[in-house]
Amino acid sequence: MKCDKCGGEAVIYQRYSGMHLCGAHEIADVERKIKRRMRKERMAVPSDHIAVAMSGGKDSAAVLSILVDTFTTRSNIKFSAITVDEGIDGYRNESIPRAKELCDQLGVPHHVISFKDEIGYTLDDILKRERKEASCTYCGVFRRTLLNRKAREIGANKVATGHNLDDEAQVVLLNIMNGDIERLARLRPSRVQEGLIPRIKPLMDVPEREIALYAFLKKLPFHMGECPYTSESFRGEVKDMLNDFEARHPGTKYSVLSGYENMVDCLKEKYPQVPLERCEVCGEPGIRGVCQACKLKRRVKIDRRSGDTHSAS
Ligand code: SF4
Repeated sequence: MKCDKCGGEAVIYQRYSGMHLCGAHEIADVERKIKRRMRKERMAVPSDHIAVAMSGGKDSAAVLSILVDTFTTRSNIKFSAITVDEGIDGYRNESIPRAKELCDQLGVPHHVISFKDEIGYTLDDILKRERKEASCTYCGVFRRTLLNRKAREIGANKVATGHNLDDEAQVVLLNIMNGDIERLARLRPSRVQEGLIPRIKPLMDVPEREIALYAFLKKLPFHMGECPYTSESFRGEVKDMLNDFEARHPGTKYSVLSGYENMVDCLKEKYPQVPLERCEVCGEPGIRGVCQACKLKRRVKIDRRSGDTHSAS
């Protein structure tokens, strides 16, 4: 197949647009979508210090690479990268060296923090002790807290994440299927909350498979493995369902995202943003009283004590 732009050898067929694209035009198309979203939401402005949440996978590699390529020479925007090592054996230990390699290539300071050091347990340890919640719940709650705290400590005023179109469409459907409409409204906060570093998602208009192709074509170092807990998540089922719909009805993921964007203002009217308070235990921003991370941490500790007692008796 030939590229519809230049007649060169096509590397991808975008079923949703009907276009065949060669490597160079696919790279240009991905970057165009990212820059358009960044302009639309004024994601990067002079004097920003943007911390990229760097897992070492394709998405974070792509977001760091394009941010640095686009802004470093043109404005006084500073970049850092933060990797949270959840302690997932055979997965995160493989991806962290890739994250470090890319940061070194781009000259970006790289900070690594771990569940083990900050919470006292790896995610693997936690899941051996307690399974009251889904694995991704423990992981997500602790990772968000640690990422936010580290970003604040290094003076970042924004956190960029590698959420792509698939992630965004999944989270919209997931919340609808859970009946959690208030959470849908909270996906797009109306204002900055004290202590909470605002997040930007430059990749949200790019399908996951095109991010993978982009990272490959740009020869970025990234880890291709998948988290061993992915298959346990409800989100995994939503992902399969969306991929199935996309295959039969190209453009479904874009429709889910644009449908959400059309209704988000109504949702925010119905569910106005509540001011965050400081967690009574750790001081991090939270809804009220003790934050979710401290509640989970306390539970894991209690379970650990009861587990130790059982084994001793
Ligand atoms: Fe964490 Fe779940 Fe992602 Fe694995 S799939 S890294 S457990 S959020």
